[in-house]
Amino acid sequence: MPQGETAVPAPPYTPPAFAVADEQGLTQLSFARRVRGRQDLGPWQQAARQKLEELLNLPEPARLTAPEYEVLHDFAGPGYQGQKIAFACFDGQTVLAYLLLPRPLAGGLPGILALPGHGLGARSTVGLVESRDGQMSMAAVLASQGYAVMAPELRSFGEREIEGYRDPAGRKTHEVFGNFMLSLGRPLLGLTLAEAIQALLLLAGHQAVDRRRLGVAGLSQGGRLAHLLAALRPEARACLVASGLASSLIYDRGYSDPHDEVPGLLRYFDYPDLAGLVAPRPLLLSWGLREWGPYWWEARENTTYQYLRGIYALADAPENLDLDIHPGAHAYHPEGVLRFFAKAL
Ligand SMILES: [Zn+2]
Repeated sequence: MPQGETAVPAPPYTPPAFAVADEQGLTQLSFARRVRGRQDLGPWQQAARQKLEELLNLPEPARLTAPEYEVLHDFAGPGYQGQKIAFACFDGQTVLAYLLLPRPLAGGLPGILALPGHGLGARSTVGLVESRDGQMSMAAVLASQGYAVMAPELRSFGEREIEGYRDPAGRKTHEVFGNFMLSLGRPLLGLTLAEAIQALLLLAGHQAVDRRRLGVAGLSQGGRLAHLLAALRPEARACLVASGLASSLIYDRGYSDPHDEVPGLLRYFDYPDLAGLVAPRPLLLSWGLREWGPYWWEARENTTYQYLRGIYALADAPENLDLDIHPGAHAYHPEGVLRFFAKAL
């Protein structure tokens, strides 16, 4: 029994036993169905990446370039110097982001893209507001430990919430915007992923950063984005998913909102398969024993981790897959984060 388990009396969520017609017809492009031996691994990863790009309706790669950026203002925190920046992304929207560099500044730094989730946005990742959403000011912690860190504000969150919307049902503008984008056939996950890719390329091109030492990290929805980004882009050499992965077929089963999902996911694969596209690069999965929802189950049953062990073994890199089950809630576990990146980058 994992340490601390007795402190949590009952599952906060039980996956519903919906009947699924033609269950055998699902996940046709999964690792479990497609890969029989080592020779199948690369072709499977390539086919799954292509399908993922299609489901997310990602902009063509030529539009996802390293953007020019403008510095809006400078600031400083313990052990780092920061800049709030803005850049125009692939569709002309302005992305705000925070760029943190360790002080004193050196060259050849490892760089980390830190992606916020549904919480308080990039300011919480950076620690500019009280970080009550599990983000633990992780960008500032990493910068003070010698990493160049960029935390972009994702579309429809934080300082990029869409103004002028009032909902008697109390829904956030992010939800309504996400729903509308879905009806346009432009899943929000694809739009935010495209922005995140451009932010990573911006970080890669920064004069203080060694582009061969780039990582990506995220909490919750940010963790989902992190592993999808690393799945698609080889520039991400290491990936940390904190409380951001759960099998959709086994645990989530409709718990998450469609506007946050890969549309049509389970026809082809499940999130553990998509995390398998990160192999053989270093990947850390972390969950807290006091998680909510589907993540609570992953923290106990480690289903995604066990599935990925098979993929990493076949990729000849079992040592590059890490698991950190911590006693906390739906949050980063700073010790595990620092240990992972010190080894991986
Ligand atoms: Zn959402």
